[in-house]
Amino acid sequence: MTIDLHNHTVLCNHATGTVDEYIEAAIAAGTHYFGFSDHAPMRFDPEYRMSISQMGLYERWIRKAQEKYADRITILLGYEVDFLPNYMEPSVLNRPCDYRIGSVHFIDQWGFDNPEYFHRYQEVESDEMYIRYFKLIEEMAKSGRFDIVGHLDLLKVFNFFPKTDVRILAKNALLAIKKANMTIEINVAGLRKPVEEIYPSPSLLESIAELEIPITFGSDAHRPDQVGLFTHEAQTLARSVGYEYGATYRNRDRAMVKF
Ligand SMILES: [Zn+2]
Ligand SMILES: [Zn+2]
Repeated sequence: MTIDLHNHTVLCNHATGTVDEYIEAAIAAGTHYFGFSDHAPMRFDPEYRMSISQMGLYERWIRKAQEKYADRITILLGYEVDFLPNYMEPSVLNRPCDYRIGSVHFIDQWGFDNPEYFHRYQEVESDEMYIRYFKLIEEMAKSGRFDIVGHLDLLKVFNFFPKTDVRILAKNALLAIKKANMTIEINVAGLRKPVEEIYPSPSLLESIAELEIPITFGSDAHRPDQVGLFTHEAQTLARSVGYEYGATYRNRDRAMVKF
């Protein structure tokens, strides 16, 4: 079975293609469980996400597609929610959905994965940033509001690496993820970015496997032609550390399927 739970729509203002085009691409790629998890509204950085008033439209699109494609593919409704203390939109967390991906894209107010703010890397110290980043991941897990951790080591996107072994820096975050019974996604977007590596890295994934934290998969597609592009690479990486099952969700209940 092929699982792909992280995909966007035009509502986030930085993706292209129709819902049907994403789904047709997923069917062509042999996907069995295909989830949309578009950027949820937030009171910060509103230009890169849907607005509060668009959540209803988004949910109607996905629910309609669920019925339309029911005999060909399982379509799921998720949200990718930014964990950014003091700016999160409470109404997002009350929406019924199949799953919530919790992602950290901001350290304080620095959108570190946005090329517009790349210059900030000149001013920061790598270990200190990694410590702050993983502290946010830890808090996100402890909040208990999310099902899946999005792109666990996103801070490496522009080849910004810590001096200390990342497994040491991520340790408390991984323990919190385990305790919160969350899933970690194998997100292939990194292969399209300067780092040219899947999130999480092979060594981090080894630690994740040691803790027996469940995994799932995500294309993180912002265009239909990015759907299912690196399924083989993602599954091979997962198998290399012993995984055989991936998580899928329905109404925030996890089920494990063999991939
Ligand atoms: Zn995006
Ligand atoms: Zn993201």
